[in-house]
Amino acid sequence: MKLDRGRAHVRNAPAARGIAPARALRRSAERVTHTELENRAHIAYVRAMLTEPAAPMPIPGHIDPVPVPRAAAARPDGRIDLIGLSKDQLRETLAAAGLEPRQAKLRAKQIWHWIYNRGATDFALMTDIAKAQHPWLTERFVIGRPEVVEAQVSSDGTRKWLLRSPDGQDYEAVFIPDADRGTLCVSSQVGCTLNCTFCHTGTMRLVRNLTAGEIVGQVMLARDSLGEWPSQPEGRMLTNIVMMGMGEPLYNFDAVRDALKLVMDGDGLALSKRRITLSTSGVVPMMARAGEEIGVNLAVSLHAVTKEVRDEIVPLNRKYGIEQLLQACADYPGANNARRITFEYVMLKDKNDSDAEAHELVRLLRHYQLPAKVNLIPFNPWPGAAYETSTPERVRRFSEIIFEGGISAPVRTPRGRDIDAACGQLKTAAEKKSRAELDRIAAEKQAALG
Ligand code: SF4
Repeated sequence: MKLDRGRAHVRNAPAARGIAPARALRRSAERVTHTELENRAHIAYVRAMLTEPAAPMPIPGHIDPVPVPRAAAARPDGRIDLIGLSKDQLRETLAAAGLEPRQAKLRAKQIWHWIYNRGATDFALMTDIAKAQHPWLTERFVIGRPEVVEAQVSSDGTRKWLLRSPDGQDYEAVFIPDADRGTLCVSSQVGCTLNCTFCHTGTMRLVRNLTAGEIVGQVMLARDSLGEWPSQPEGRMLTNIVMMGMGEPLYNFDAVRDALKLVMDGDGLALSKRRITLSTSGVVPMMARAGEEIGVNLAVSLHAVTKEVRDEIVPLNRKYGIEQLLQACADYPGANNARRITFEYVMLKDKNDSDAEAHELVRLLRHYQLPAKVNLIPFNPWPGAAYETSTPERVRRFSEIIFEGGISAPVRTPRGRDIDAACGQLKTAAEKKSRAELDRIAAEKQAALG
């Protein structure tokens, strides 16, 4: 017994748990590589982002910084959420908390596997990590998931989650199942600055950017909900991701890039870049970077072919016009006939749906020699919207003209309309209920579970 207690004591000693004495830490600090320094700088940046007052988002190039009114707040309990950290950042975070470098490396590898292959959210389940170290990890870190305030399922199988961050910000994710695929529509911001006039999200003010952890957290939560752990490449329901939820992804570039890199990592969620699509309303200066640094498929919310109409319905057009946007598409790295750029076109009655506009669309796409397909989206109405949906006959004729021009132009079937989950409808659930009402629903759910 005595011996056992002694062993337990040794196991619980800081050195046995791999917690480096100060001298060893100082020595290891002298040996850090340039990459490690960059990672530390990144962690410091993430921490600063979580705690400092919001500053304009730094986007390099000749575009104006986008003011982001609020920064993400640190967790109230002070623990660090490991979701959203790259492998190197995870190792650095463990080392910064006191693990010796070799042990930090090993633990990072193990924890990564548990998080992204097994979907674990509890350190106690990590059977290849010494039990004595579980409390040490739990005291300092958390493997988070967004809080689900409301989960809805449409009559067509579409699922929508209203999610809440630890600092009380609401955002949404939507899962759209099809016969041969399942697509998760992911949000990148709480609200949006761009005010596209046909989009309900655009009537929300921008609250803040989502962090990389909150973006990849939507994927983790969907996989929890679909029962897709442990991770396996075959037979998944969640096969595709589109960055088409709330927000403009290219106005939150760093977090979106970091999150998508996690999603694509072959040791974890392992989704191919060919199955991920990033949608932009046309933040032209960031498009080449998106192609080079993320390399996923590109979708462009075009929605109009004349300056007059696009200025009205996608106001960003006043800054980056149609020609500039289409040239950036032509220059997009990796676009070819096998990986065509998708042009989203919402069909608004008597606004952008004439034969002449369909012909002009074909002309423009040919002029810029774009490997393109066009998605025609019947407008999904929302209360107070200034537009109506084009008639089915008009949509059909518009589609035929584009097909006749040699460009694929399928008409998208609206999904999840009954739960306000269709394109351009996100926000409704978050704002149609008051905060008090949402809190009450969450409390009732909690009570029912408990
Ligand atoms: S369409 Fe996209 S970019 Fe435009 S307001 Fe809606 S969420 Fe923002």
